[in-house]
Amino acid sequence: MSKLQQLYEGKAKRVYATQNADEVIVSYKDDATALDGLKKGTISGKGAINNRMTNFFMQMLEKEGVPTHFVEELNDRETVVKKVSIVPLEVIIRNISAGSFAKRYGVEEGIVFAEPTIEFSYKNDDLHDPLINSYHALALNLATKEEIKRIKELAFKVNDVLKAYFLKLNVKLVDFKLEFGRLSDGTIVLADEISPDTCRFWDADTNEKLDKDRFRRDMGGVEDAYNEMMRRVFGE
Ligand code: UDP
Repeated sequence: MSKLQQLYEGKAKRVYATQNADEVIVSYKDDATALDGLKKGTISGKGAINNRMTNFFMQMLEKEGVPTHFVEELNDRETVVKKVSIVPLEVIIRNISAGSFAKRYGVEEGIVFAEPTIEFSYKNDDLHDPLINSYHALALNLATKEEIKRIKELAFKVNDVLKAYFLKLNVKLVDFKLEFGRLSDGTIVLADEISPDTCRFWDADTNEKLDKDRFRRDMGGVEDAYNEMMRRVFGE
């Protein structure tokens, strides 16, 4: 399997066509953006970390009954995935208050919720990814009722699996963002990535941030945080 023409370049990844019409190659970059694209930078080694971690979690989730787009890791930055049509919703699960939730509702970060929450943002850069509810997503034909039901069910399942896994690494899974795609037969699968770019990870003892918030908030130690998560997951 090798790369043919580039199909798409996003903020953190490039996507290439392959010889197989049903598969594409994702290539992870070290580029990072935050604050709706206003903040730009690089996090050295991030592409390789996010590639490896995402693939590890996708395979773990497959085993737990969550269908994913993962096919095969090619090298440290590139992975073959099934071609999907992305459902234009960012699906956010939260276990602990942080980020935009804390800001929106005027509460501190770190409140542990009795139940996880779910919310959607409409993936639309021109509109700055506005918060959207499922009725509005339906009205805009972003997904069907059945797809939204399935996405919610899979997102909570992902949370159950990952939350328990990270706790064993002494990491609190505060919140994270998922994206889902449709295969050509309409099956909904987990797509995109699961990494310190898309999850908030806090050390369970100290609440030290081990994720992209260190970049977003100019806290320093960004590479160290990504490397520490790599060490906890893979023991290296
Ligand atoms: N997130 C993401 N991409 C986005 C927005 C959010 O991966 O475009 C992730 C983010 O890393 C965090 C979770 O989704 O783990 C919730 O983010 P939040 O809504 O609090 O937004 P933020 O404070 O990051 O703007």
